[in-house]
Amino acid sequence: MRGLMQDYPLTIDAIFRHVEQHYGDGTIVTGSPTGPVRSTYAEWAVRTRKLGGVLDTLGISADGRVGTFGWNSQRHLELYFAAPSTGRVLHTLNIRLFPEQLTYIANHAEDEVVFVDRTVLPLFWKLVDTMTTVRHVVVMDDGGDNEIPDDPRVLDYETLLAQAQPVDFGVTDENLAASMCYTSGTTGNPKGVVYTHRSTFLHTMAVIAPNVFGLGVRDVAMPVVPMFHANAWGIAQAAPAAGASLVMPGPMMAPEALAQLIVDEGVTFTAGVPTIWQGVLPHLAGKPHTLREIGCGGSAVPKALSEAYREQVGLPILQAWGMTETHPVASSAALPLAYLDADDDTKADRRARAGTPLFGVEARIVDAETLEPQPWDDTATGELQVRGPWCAQDYYNPDAGVELTTRDGWMKTGDVAAMDEHGSIRIADRTKDLIKSGGEWISSVDLENAIMSHPKVKEAAVVGIPHPKWDERPLACVVLKDGETATEADILDHIRPLVAKWWMPDAVEFIDEVPKTSVGKFSKKDLRSRFAEYELRS
Ligand code: ADP
Repeated sequence: MRGLMQDYPLTIDAIFRHVEQHYGDGTIVTGSPTGPVRSTYAEWAVRTRKLGGVLDTLGISADGRVGTFGWNSQRHLELYFAAPSTGRVLHTLNIRLFPEQLTYIANHAEDEVVFVDRTVLPLFWKLVDTMTTVRHVVVMDDGGDNEIPDDPRVLDYETLLAQAQPVDFGVTDENLAASMCYTSGTTGNPKGVVYTHRSTFLHTMAVIAPNVFGLGVRDVAMPVVPMFHANAWGIAQAAPAAGASLVMPGPMMAPEALAQLIVDEGVTFTAGVPTIWQGVLPHLAGKPHTLREIGCGGSAVPKALSEAYREQVGLPILQAWGMTETHPVASSAALPLAYLDADDDTKADRRARAGTPLFGVEARIVDAETLEPQPWDDTATGELQVRGPWCAQDYYNPDAGVELTTRDGWMKTGDVAAMDEHGSIRIADRTKDLIKSGGEWISSVDLENAIMSHPKVKEAAVVGIPHPKWDERPLACVVLKDGETATEADILDHIRPLVAKWWMPDAVEFIDEVPKTSVGKFSKKDLRSRFAEYELRS
């Protein structure tokens, strides 16, 4: 017997209509060099429908790729909805990528138009002739005085919008492509992930829920995670869908400016990678604020950072785990029932995990070769694999040999994890960052956590260094807090009681800064090449 309910398509224009009809008074604030620019969802909705008209006038193909190259802003949010709601595919380009990667990605996706913030226009313009499919460059004037090239491809966003007619939205096939995003590709070429309307709709519902971001009309949400980094983790869709107001930092991404926005604009929910919160902490500590949740992921959230927020800002960090391939949010470390009354240190340990898969996502740990399931005893590790309606099945036209899905239909994450008896995930490492010593694996994440609990340490990244006898041994690269001094012995003495004896780093190097990737994560690749010739003493 078949069910008798409507086959209502789960599309992005359905989210749009909900916001347009019910939350017109919600506000959108965009940071700019001349101060915050204020608007409402009602104004945004009118402009978004007109932007649909602009895409028609520009002659963008029915499923043409609409590139963006900009900060988090109201205009970017207009593009987030206008492109997919007219059947086009939004393609967010990462403004911090290397030029060759940007060229590769724009050509691979076949972007027809790219919408570019004026503050980053010079970065983009020098590449425009290498992007073979780009016919139009639409400049969004977000301030600054960067010269606007006199070129027939260049158009002005506000002029186009003023001349445009609003359009009706009506995507009926929920499995159409809605947007695409490339992973940074630490090995090989960047890989394109193509989201559907359906996956976006379901991910939006999932992250609004209380165990994840818990968004509602009383919230003021500020995505610090860029809209080009895995969909701003879904916040740019989830906040409007839940009627929450939005604060978009625009180019005002300095830690001090972010703290100021949090305080001035009454932000209740925000999210970004650990390095962002590391930088913001001294500017927020002791200030009056209305935050109820700080989401963080993209790499392991050190226990020490979360605890520093609990002590100095009044709330710990909520860790989430995910990948571009999982839309990206797939698990959250909201405390399980059994730990709600635990002591502070036990709770802090739980928060240092990737946590429980979101409702809708299933997770398992298996031997990567045999797919043999590993026990959920929080000790055994295996490759973390996931499945669910917002997990990718394939990449977009991948290079030969790149396979995302196992023969039994699970998505390979490339992360190594343990799971406890309730299936809470603890990420040990990325497969490629594990340190192989004497045939056993050492988790760089656990070592970093231990080192970062030293009160004088600001950041620590541990990489494997080739070793003639053991294959690899850990080297700890440590950044001290401003004005602090410490010796190798201080660091090693601190972690000795915290880690297994054979995990102890063979050496500690004090460095000025841990190199970061284009989305602000520790770049182990850069560290490994910096210390490629490193001679370990033992
Ligand atoms: P890339 O870093 O290649 O740009 P993603 O942003 O999609 O791609 O990164 C996904 C990866 O980030 C995951 O596979 C995992 O290794 C890491 N990651 C994300 N969240 C966490 C977390 N909470 N703890 C540990 N690692 C994480």
